[in-house]
Amino acid sequence: MSTPSSAPPTKPQVQPCRYKTGKTLGTGSYSVVRECIHIDTGRYYAAKVINKRLMAGREHMVRNEIAVLKKVSIGHANILTLVDYFETMNNLYLVTDLALGGELFDRICRKGHYYETDAAELIRSTLSAVAYLHDNGIVHRDLKPENLLFRTPDESSELLIADFGLSRILNEDQFVLMTTCGTPGYMAPEIFKKSGHGKPVDIWAIGVITFFLLCGMTPFDRDSNIEEMQAIMAGDYKFDPEYWCTVSKDAKDFIRQCLTVDPAKRPTAKEALEHRWLAADAERERMNGQAEGAADAAQKTDLLPTVRKNFNARRKLHAAIDTIRAIHKLKEGGMMDGALSISPETQKQMEEKQTSKGLWQKPAGGRMKP
Ligand code: ADP
Ligand code: MG
Repeated sequence: MSTPSSAPPTKPQVQPCRYKTGKTLGTGSYSVVRECIHIDTGRYYAAKVINKRLMAGREHMVRNEIAVLKKVSIGHANILTLVDYFETMNNLYLVTDLALGGELFDRICRKGHYYETDAAELIRSTLSAVAYLHDNGIVHRDLKPENLLFRTPDESSELLIADFGLSRILNEDQFVLMTTCGTPGYMAPEIFKKSGHGKPVDIWAIGVITFFLLCGMTPFDRDSNIEEMQAIMAGDYKFDPEYWCTVSKDAKDFIRQCLTVDPAKRPTAKEALEHRWLAADAERERMNGQAEGAADAAQKTDLLPTVRKNFNARRKLHAAIDTIRAIHKLKEGGMMDGALSISPETQKQMEEKQTSKGLWQKPAGGRMKP
C-alpha cells in the first residue's frame, strides 16, 4: 500500500483489507467466527469477529493480550494458532488456523464407537495444552466442549483448544455471562464466591468436561442456573450408577480430584496429567498398540449410546438458553486496525453487488472452495 504524504499524521491510516470473509463457522459467547481467505496467498483461515463494544475501556489490555497469544499459540500442537489480527472501527478480527474437524462433542457423536480410553486421550491432549498455557501464565477460563475443536476431519486429527486468553478480559464478570448467555456448567465454585480466577478454574472445567465425556451430562446440571450455581459451590454431584457402573474407578477418582471445591487443594495441570487414569491409559497404549480387546471391562464398554442419549435429552432441555444466545450475535461493519482496515464485509459489498449467493460462489482472486 502507498502512504499519501498529505495524510494528516493524527488520523490512523485505513488499509485495504487483506482478507475476505465467508460463511459463518460458529457463534461463541462473545464473537462470531467466519471462514476467511487471505487474498494474497489464497490460504484459508478462520476469523473471529469480536465487537469492540465488549472491550470498552479495555482495548489496551486486549491488544497486549493478543500479542502474547500470538506468540504463545504457535508453541503447542493442541492450541489453535493465532495467525494475524486487525481491527475495523467496530470489530476486532482474530485470524486463526481453520479447524475443519468440528467441535468435540459433534465429532464423538459421529463416531461408530466410543470408549473410556478415547475420552482419556482427549482429556490428556487438552490437559497437556492447558499445562502449557499455565506455564506461560495464561488461564483459559472458558474451557468447555464447544471450545475444543479438531484440526481436520480425519480420525487421527489433533484436538485444539480454541478461544483462550481473552476470556480473562472480555468475560471479566463471568457471572453476567452466565445470566445472559448460558449455564454456569463449567464454572468453578471460586468464580461465584468471587475468591479468585486462577489456574485452578481450568482444572475444575477439565473435571466437568471429563464427567460430560463419560456420561453425556454435566455434573451440576439443574433446572435453573441458580440451583446449578449452588450445586457447584457445594460440590454437589454424584456418579449415578445407571450410567457410571461401567466406568473405571480411576476415571471417577480423576473427576473427584479435579472437582475439589477448594482451589488450593485441586491438582495442577501437571499433577492431573500424572493421574493414574491418564498415565495408566498411556501405559496401556504403549503395551498393546494394536489390541483394543485386551483392555479391562471399563475400556470395553461402548459409551456412545448412553452419552448420546443423555446429551440429546439435555440439549432439548436447554434449547431455550440457546435461543437467548442467538440474540448475542454481533453486528459488523465499519472501517480497520493493529492497522485500520476496511471491514471485509464492507469491502465485499463494494466489490460485488450483494446477491443472495454470497462470497464463495464467486471466483475472485484465489481459488475458491467447491
Ligand atoms: P467465543 O470466544 O465467542 O466463544 P469461539 O472461539 O469459541 O468463540 O468460537 C465460537 C465457535 O466458532 C466455536 O465453538 C466453533 O464452532 C467455531 N470456531 C471457532 N474457531 C474456529 C476455527 N478456527 N475453525 C473452525 N471453527 C471455529
Ligand atoms: Mg467459545
